[in-house]
Amino acid sequence: MLDGRPHTPALLGGPPAVTGEVPPWPPIDPDQDGALLAVARTQQWWSKGGRAVMSFERGFAAAHGARHGIACTNGTHALELALRALGVGPGDEVIVPAMTFVATSMAVMLVGARPVPVDVAPDTWCLDVAACRRAIGPHTRAIVPVHFAGHIADMAALTAMAEAAGLHVIEDAAHAHGARRGGISAGAAAPLAAFSFQNFKLMTAGEGGLLLANDDALAERARLITNCGRPDGDRRYAHLVLGSNMRMTEFQGAVLAVQLARLDARAELRARRARQLRDVLARLGGLRLQAVAADVDRHAWYMVVMEIEPQAFGGLPRQSIVDALNAEGVPAYRIYPAVQDVPHFAADFARRGGDPAALAPTPVARRLAERGIWLHHRILLGGDALIDQVGEAFHKIAVHADAIRTRI
Ligand SMILES: *Cc1c(COP(=O)(O)O)cnc(C)c1O
Repeated sequence: MLDGRPHTPALLGGPPAVTGEVPPWPPIDPDQDGALLAVARTQQWWSKGGRAVMSFERGFAAAHGARHGIACTNGTHALELALRALGVGPGDEVIVPAMTFVATSMAVMLVGARPVPVDVAPDTWCLDVAACRRAIGPHTRAIVPVHFAGHIADMAALTAMAEAAGLHVIEDAAHAHGARRGGISAGAAAPLAAFSFQNFKLMTAGEGGLLLANDDALAERARLITNCGRPDGDRRYAHLVLGSNMRMTEFQGAVLAVQLARLDARAELRARRARQLRDVLARLGGLRLQAVAADVDRHAWYMVVMEIEPQAFGGLPRQSIVDALNAEGVPAYRIYPAVQDVPHFAADFARRGGDPAALAPTPVARRLAERGIWLHHRILLGGDALIDQVGEAFHKIAVHADAIRTRI
């Protein structure tokens, strides 16, 4: 298939390369349906007094080798919760990777602190340790590494550096359910780690989040914050700390517990298919795939992320390549903008009289923001044939780039 001249691209009226069904996400699962219905019938829909969320929290923490799990409304809130539990606020700076979903930096702003975007490493696209060290200043309070696309950041180096500098570390593990590096799971290396169960994520209840905590006092404080400052079982309106309502429902807990039971099997399948797909894509040329560090035991493969070389695909604009892939039936997306190029960040920075020249340059993040695309993890849950068809889709676009260009 990759050798002969392929069919006309679907964007130009040819048959799509992906002929079968791409596995759906969120997943269809009779056990999820049963768990949902069971909660509906108990009339115990609230997590306080219920069992579903509590037992999910324990199971998720155990699966990641962490001490405590505190479920919450979403991943953005989990990050805010972590920052609040640590007392990070106005006057503080928090280092975030320049290449991440905007929630990492917005959560910092929402607690009144300032995000400081720092470049990512040119190979793994996770927070660059040397750049991070250079960005530490007198106001730095915390570092929030992101396990980008499911690749755990260099936690050994980052936690050692943070400890030496007296900084907190919060893992943004929104991409990394079940990931492991150097024998340590996502969420077990730092005192706090934030997960998301938003619709795209590797486990999902449509929305949802969870904070893993490896420090008892922080866990206790975080739990109070999710519950309007009230201890569990409180019947006297004892609001011990300033908190909010970040509670998860029993419905979400029940669905997520079923997905937790499937996590290992799905992760193994994704890893196998990611290997196959990356082999196919590497043979096509013109694509720079995310490098995987040698001590990564398990990449979670939330995204198969890659940079398109400028001359590849006949120099087609990135968006046209994404559109052409979508027409072929491949769930492809452009990657995030670099944090400092997000309009809200830039406007806030200017409002505070910030000097853009004072921000560290982030050439790697900016280049990826310009050239990067990612493929949804659901393509890794199908069969061998689907992997070949995704490769075929890329191949068609490369061969017919000139014809595609005349149509855009
Ligand atoms: C999805 C995501 C979040 C936020 O999670 P939500 O549940 O959508 O609020 C945070 N960080 C990263 C890196 C994410 O991808």
